Amino acid sequence: MRQRHLAMRLSRLEGHPRPNPALEQYPTPPDLAARLLTIASQTGEIGERTVCDLGSGTGVLAIGAALLGASRVVGVEVDPLAIVVAEKNAALLNVSVEFILCDLNDPECAGNIPHAEIVVMNPPFGAQQRHADRPFIDTALIIAPVVYGIFNAGSRPFLESYLMGHGEVTGIENWQLPIRRTFRFHREESRDIPVEVVRIRRCPL
Ligand code: SAH
Repeated sequence: MRQRHLAMRLSRLEGHPRPNPALEQYPTPPDLAARLLTIASQTGEIGERTVCDLGSGTGVLAIGAALLGASRVVGVEVDPLAIVVAEKNAALLNVSVEFILCDLNDPECAGNIPHAEIVVMNPPFGAQQRHADRPFIDTALIIAPVVYGIFNAGSRPFLESYLMGHGEVTGIENWQLPIRRTFRFHREESRDIPVEVVRIRRCPL
């Protein structure tokens, strides 16, 4: 499926009715989700693969991976309401995705996430809660050898030092993430945040 066609399909998905600022519930816009998934798909990392979406929210990345032919897709999310919306969204686009309710900060829960061939994620950037992205990166590299994530622009040095010995950054593409006025503390209607789509490969043990 072409990237534009995928973005069009994903634009039909419902958003979260009451996003929670503490969880940094900013949905990935359809064109950015389609871009990330198309890069991974063109590298042969989506079709016929087991894909896990960490912090799946209303499901855009997980559902997009299913549309691109993943053999199994698992979405992991801490917010039950987001899962309800994501399940409706998967049904709307006629794909099958398993959603698991799990707080990635809880090691027992994170330890039960099934292993995958690839993780896709748009983790919290840590703007509300410092280091909120770390359990995402840690879990991603435990469950899969390849990770595609959306990070704040300029995260590469942090990622490289954080990953030291566990993983390496093998690709980066720059994007603008339009953040609409979602929360009261947002002063402007909409604002573009520069972000990076990053591919990380786990280092062999
Ligand atoms: N993947 C979705 C949502 C991205 S926003 C998309 O691309 O549109 C980040 C998501 O991570 C939110 O849905 C939030 O509820 C979830 N999240 C935040 N902290 C979490 C945690 N500790 N464990 C699991 N999910 C978490």
